[in-house]
Order: sequence, then structure tokens, then C-alpha cells
Amino acid sequence: VLEAAGERKSFGETEVLKGVDLKVHRGEVVAVIGPSGSGKTTMIRTLNAMESIDAGEVLYRGRPVGYRHTAGGRRPVGDRELARTRENIGMVFQQFNLFPHKTVLENVTFAPAHLGKGSAAEIKERALVQLRKVGMAAHADKYPHQLSGGQQQRVAIARALAMNPDAILFDEPTSALDPELVDEVLQVMTELAAEGLTMVVVTHEMRFAREVADWVVFMDQGVVVEEGPAAELFGNPQHERTRRFLSRVM
Ligand code: ATP
Repeated sequence: VLEAAGERKSFGETEVLKGVDLKVHRGEVVAVIGPSGSGKTTMIRTLNAMESIDAGEVLYRGRPVGYRHTAGGRRPVGDRELARTRENIGMVFQQFNLFPHKTVLENVTFAPAHLGKGSAAEIKERALVQLRKVGMAAHADKYPHQLSGGQQQRVAIARALAMNPDAILFDEPTSALDPELVDEVLQVMTELAAEGLTMVVVTHEMRFAREVADWVVFMDQGVVVEEGPAAELFGNPQHERTRRFLSRVM
């Protein structure tokens, strides 16, 4: 469903993505691992055009995300098309990014209500279903600051699910959490994976990548060094750089 090809991106003088290719198939969980600064966050943000690219392309169901190549060069896609892509590709951030002045329920209903995805009663009912799924229905009327980081992140996941997306991008979803709160979020993500949700997950949680991901991508210094089924990448890494990284983090 999602495909990146030859992605390049620089911030000033620094080239952060140096020709990255990635394929995400429907129902697949892809984990992106690699050292700090290797470009993982930048790459995942390009998949729904939250980050622009200087060259290459991203396709969602074969249609360009962010930029279209035309005879006259590269042009940004229209706002409507971009909005539609983002409706279909949800995102969960490291810092949760909940609306601080909205309740848990309002955080989850906001986008579907704004986009007119059903009556208010239907939207609320569906939001409660998603909140139940992440174990947060009992907190529907609380505000984000009344919740732990793990609870906030579970609400953020419910908010992404409420759009009924084709895929969800997770950018280091547990990196900002106290260690004892990591598992409750990984547990929810593991359940979503088992239900067949298409997920791309930038993560430092090697156990999650190894046990839950179907496909693991190892990035270093702006390139995909190696990728493969989780069992192979962890069990029998082919590249020296991959082996060195795994020996440091496992
Ligand atoms: P980490 O695991 O630490 O989050 P990462 O692999 O996700 O690392 P990125 O966050 O993609 O790496 O960053 C890659 C490089 O790009 C880093 O050197 C970072 O400092 C730089 N960078 C990222 N975003 C920007 C920006 N908006 N402006 C300038 N430099 C940036």
C-alpha cells in the first residue's frame, strides 16, 4: 500500500536520506531500526508528507504522496489529495501530541467530526469503541494532563484508529515514556498487529521488532543497510554494520 523510492532529503548541508527505498504491504508490520540520527524519523514522516523530500517519490496505493512528477518537473500534490492521504495514513508521535484543552473523548472525535464522518452520536459511539480497544474508555472525560504518558499514548492510538485508516505510522511511540509504561503501549500495538492493521514503526524496542514485526528495516547514515523478515534480520544479519548495531542494543 505504501512505497518510497529513491528518497533524498537534506537539512542544510546535511543529507539525512540518501536514496531510501521502502515497501509496505497491506496487513504488514514494518519495524524501522537503527542508530540515533540515521534518518528513521525523517523517513517515516515523509510517508504521509509531514516531511518534504528533495528527490525520489512516495506512493500510496500507486498515487503520489507529497509530490507528483510531471513533464514540467516535480509539483506538490493538491491540498485535497494530501488531506485524503493523511486521512488514510494515521500517525502516532513520540510526544503523543494530544490536544491539551480537549478531553480524551474530544481528542478522538475531533477529526472524524471535523470531516463529517457520520452523525455526532455515531462518531461518539465509534470513538468509545476505539477507546475501549486501548483500555481508555473509563477515562473518556479526563484531560491529557490528568493521564500518564502511557495512557496519553494509548489515547493517541485510539485517535488514529478513529479515522479507520489503511495504515498507521508510529514514530518512536514509546521513547518518551517511563520504562514501566512502555509495555502497556506495546501491548496495544501488538494487538493491533494481530488484527491485521498495517503499521510502520520506528522503534528502539528490539524485542517488539523481533517478536511483532513481519519485516525489519535497518537504517544507518541515511540509507537502508539491510532489511528482511524479523527472524532473519535478527537471527542472521548479513552486514557488518547491522551486526555491530544489534550487538550494542540487544
Ligand atoms: P533518533 O533515533 O535519534 O530519533 P533518527 O534516526 O530518527 O534518530 P532523524 O530524527 O531522522 O534520525 O534525524 C536525522 C538527522 O537529521 C539528525 O542528524 C538530525 O539532527 C537531523 N534533522 C532532523 N530533523 C531536522 C530539522 N528539522 N532540521 C535540521 N536537521 C534535522
